[in-house]
Amino acid sequence: MFIFWLSFAFLFGSMMGSFLNCLVWRLYHDESLWTRSHCPKCQHQIAWYDNIPLFSFLVLRARCRHCQVRIHWQYFATELALALLFAFAFWYRFQGLSDFILIEQISSWNIHSLSLLRDWLIIAFFSAIFIMDYQWYVVADEISLPGIISVFIFSLVLGWLWPDLAAAFSWSNLILATLVGAGFFSLQYYFSGGRWVGAGDIRIGALMGASLGWPGILVGLALAYFIGSLASIYLIAVRQKQSFSFKHLWEPGEPTEQAIIPFGPFLALGALIALFYGEAIITWYQNLIL
Ligand SMILES: [Zn+2]
Repeated sequence: MFIFWLSFAFLFGSMMGSFLNCLVWRLYHDESLWTRSHCPKCQHQIAWYDNIPLFSFLVLRARCRHCQVRIHWQYFATELALALLFAFAFWYRFQGLSDFILIEQISSWNIHSLSLLRDWLIIAFFSAIFIMDYQWYVVADEISLPGIISVFIFSLVLGWLWPDLAAAFSWSNLILATLVGAGFFSLQYYFSGGRWVGAGDIRIGALMGASLGWPGILVGLALAYFIGSLASIYLIAVRQKQSFSFKHLWEPGEPTEQAIIPFGPFLALGALIALFYGEAIITWYQNLIL
């Protein structure tokens, strides 16, 4: 029974991946969100059977059915990543339950099923940020602002409904974490005149705060910088890049002297790891220093 629902989470995640690919592409290219998908080259409408997540990419061998233009592997990678992340969140919330309790938990609104929805919401927003920043060095306000508001309100409601979550998701805790996330990047933005970080990072910081609470936000930021520094060691040692900077561009195509590595993907990775393992990391760190 667990495997059945886990597969369902996997399928749902792959559909979300397909949707997010389409969403970020349309946001970036300023296209309407309410039309049928079409091939960017030959403009042929994509039939439903060519639009099945994961499956269609393999059947079509990564080419458009009509004009044979290559479909980027990133579409498949996003669908697979979202499928795995959604399945992981399901496993994280419901592992080890008997079939009877599992059905009971899934079929009603309770602390576990709503926490899973919150996890999925956060995964979806950070994945959209990851894809968009990775591809185009920008994060649309249409993603980050609804993300901050919806995750903040969702968390607040969970805190109201369940005393177990009241401390983590109280007004004061969420406001503090959101301000710390946004403030951390605002200060850097202010003091560097926008050279170290971009305005998009301020919004991502706020979303991290609403998602992780306090002190989870600190773990998320620390992880992002840790993973970012591993990436920069790799770039210097293996790829022989001498000069690069992590940041967002305010406008796509803004001229810069250095190679630019978008920082959003690292923030997204840090946030998602901290979402599930933040408390474990805090406990580990406290044991380390005491
Ligand atoms: Zn085509």
